[in-house]
Amino acid sequence: MANRIVNNYISRGMKKIFPGIALAGLIACSCTQNKYATTNKAYKKQSKEFAKRYREYPVTDSAGLNYAQAWVGTTNFSVRRPNFVVIHHTAQNSCEETLTTFTLPRTQVSSHYVICKDGTVHHMLNDLLRGHHAGVSKWGNATDLNSSSVGIEIDNNGFESFTEPQINSLLQLLDRLKKAYSIPTANFIGHADVAPGRKVDPNRNFPWQKLAQNGYGLWYDTTGVQVPADFNALQALRIIGYDIKNPGNAIQSFKIHFVQQDTTRTIGDTDKKILYDLMKKYQ
Ligand SMILES: [Zn+2]
Repeated sequence: MANRIVNNYISRGMKKIFPGIALAGLIACSCTQNKYATTNKAYKKQSKEFAKRYREYPVTDSAGLNYAQAWVGTTNFSVRRPNFVVIHHTAQNSCEETLTTFTLPRTQVSSHYVICKDGTVHHMLNDLLRGHHAGVSKWGNATDLNSSSVGIEIDNNGFESFTEPQINSLLQLLDRLKKAYSIPTANFIGHADVAPGRKVDPNRNFPWQKLAQNGYGLWYDTTGVQVPADFNALQALRIIGYDIKNPGNAIQSFKIHFVQQDTTRTIGDTDKKILYDLMKKYQ
């Protein structure tokens, strides 16, 4: 009640001094509060449904076998945790556009986080729930990266550089995720890495080396590296994690991440040194 009186007082005072501005402020405020009210409600409803499935007993999730008659539930368990972080660029023109895309059921796409150009982070989905950001994907022997990763979308039209506030926010977020879920350093990867030929994000301006210097993803040092004569570059790509079904696509994804200025799909001597050094780090 006291607050309402104070608010009314301020509001009356504002109207007296800046009648137009005060009104505009009020309108803008109510818009931001209500714009996603319906989709937020849908989020709540969906998560409630999942919570119901967690509570189900006897458990029926993979039922069908001839289980023992009397159900015995264990007392020792927790929730599955993400083990990878997959980074994307949105390929859209604004953060607002992406928020809209991720709240339209018909698009069927989402990510856990969206990072705007000014560094604002939108946490759209609980880390423990499965986002729809990676699609058909493979990294090493891991398939269905959506089930094992946190997805981070960075507002970027696909061709521009990433802003400093975006990278600063990203580094803070990665620090939190790495600690919270004990995510291995090698498991911070890009969408292009896990979907060669199908995806090219984040684009060649993405500062992977800076990320690696901070402990998110691996980088190479070719100083004094001697590549053995029988070195197999394709096998090295496979060891790092790339799906080499289509070698050209795998090389393209490798270059988007590690040799960003080079748009060719061939392996030269320098690339071999990089691959040889990386292969040993990923082994
Ligand atoms: Zn992507």
